[in-house]
Amino acid sequence: MSTPVQKNDRLTVTIEDLTHDGNGVAKVDGYPLFIQGALPDETAEVHVLKTLKNYGFAKVINIVTPSPDRVEAPCAYFAQCGGCQLQHMTYEGQLKWKQKMVENVMRRIGKIDAPVHATKGMQDPWRYRNKAQIPFAEQDGRIMAGFYKTKSHHIVDMDRCLIQNTESDAIMRELKLTLQQLGVRPYNEEKHKGVLRHVVIRKGNATDEVMVVLVTRTHALPEKEAVIEAIKEMVPNTVSIVQNVNSKKTNVIFGDETFVLYGKEAIVDTIGDVKFEISARSFYQVNPTQTEVLYKQALDYAQLQGGERVIDAYCGIGTISLFLAQTAAHVSGVEIVPQAIEDAKRNAELNGFTNTYFEAGPAEEVIPRWYKEGKGADVLVVDPPRKGCDEALLTTILTQQPKRVVYVSCNPATLARDLRILEDGGYKTKEVQPVDMFPHTAHCEAVAWLELV
Ligand code: SAH
Repeated sequence: MSTPVQKNDRLTVTIEDLTHDGNGVAKVDGYPLFIQGALPDETAEVHVLKTLKNYGFAKVINIVTPSPDRVEAPCAYFAQCGGCQLQHMTYEGQLKWKQKMVENVMRRIGKIDAPVHATKGMQDPWRYRNKAQIPFAEQDGRIMAGFYKTKSHHIVDMDRCLIQNTESDAIMRELKLTLQQLGVRPYNEEKHKGVLRHVVIRKGNATDEVMVVLVTRTHALPEKEAVIEAIKEMVPNTVSIVQNVNSKKTNVIFGDETFVLYGKEAIVDTIGDVKFEISARSFYQVNPTQTEVLYKQALDYAQLQGGERVIDAYCGIGTISLFLAQTAAHVSGVEIVPQAIEDAKRNAELNGFTNTYFEAGPAEEVIPRWYKEGKGADVLVVDPPRKGCDEALLTTILTQQPKRVVYVSCNPATLARDLRILEDGGYKTKEVQPVDMFPHTAHCEAVAWLELV
């Protein structure tokens, strides 16, 4: 079947939209072309790279009419690195696009007419991440460290990353030089040889405590003492250096064995008034400033008066649960990863909460059982992964009818789908609030508030 455009065609198009991963979309006789680096409302001369039956890909040769939102990307690696997708857009433009995207998806997929508010963004949208996972490699005898190109395992060798903290930059820049001098070899993926695979840096935003994790293929770490001393010098606020051994041929970063080389086993951070202990492997939100904004929004929509029983489904290490437990009578959290539940229990104890309960298991099985045992809730908070809520969980909500549901989502499309199911079963979406957790990337988080009507 022929398509309206062919590979290697050059043509001038007008960009109508951005995809959920930040590529421009133009239509030629109704046939969508995805164009990396092009922004809505721009006219651009493009070169067609590939055509499939229902859509194609093209690259920009020349922007004929730039968008008023177009800026020069501040990061020198933006064109190559797969980390950010929207640095060529003003931050105000990004926030507006995220709101519009959520609104479109709500109307189109969910037929939801609730107001979608302006995206809550950051005052300073740079250096917001509290965790960097930096792969190390070697090319022609030279050690490289940075982040991967889009959809590849090619490292873009970098000295800094503008969305990471300065401690991560220091490690990225200086550790490769130190390792080069000491003769410590980075891991070679193809040959499965060498030592250092990744360096993971975590920082407590509120405490400034830094943890450095050296992920190695071997137990032996040559020049161990010298490496430890060098890291302490590079980042004086390092309070923990740990080694994790991953001897497998795998894309997964961490192996099973972790031991402390220097200082503490975990660092501490606080979100609002709640304290969290973060160890090398714990899941923890990567943008602590916006996490507080997100959780405050969830708390706001939960409208707790003090007497409510709350269930937090997909609770991770219990961050939202503990935030809610400050006001609720009781919060029960459920999460499928047992290790995360252990963290949740420890964090509840660390903060002195006595009104929380955590259980490991699939939310769609545990929650119906809780209701059956008379341990239901007035307010249900859900924060599922990208694929959205399990259908059985939605059915439980519709059967048990908690008066309020707060839905935290990292994928507007599945949020809209699930809100439709809940609306068809008797709930009404009152408001949707997008929150920008990941500035300069195309990811968008949103919180929805539903009431039983
Ligand atoms: N609310 C947490 C984590 C949200 S991420 C926070 O804000 O930090 C989504 C979580 O859902 C992950 O921790 C994942 O392990 C968990 N998960 C995935 N499928 C699940 C299921 N069927 N039941 C319970 N938890 C699940």
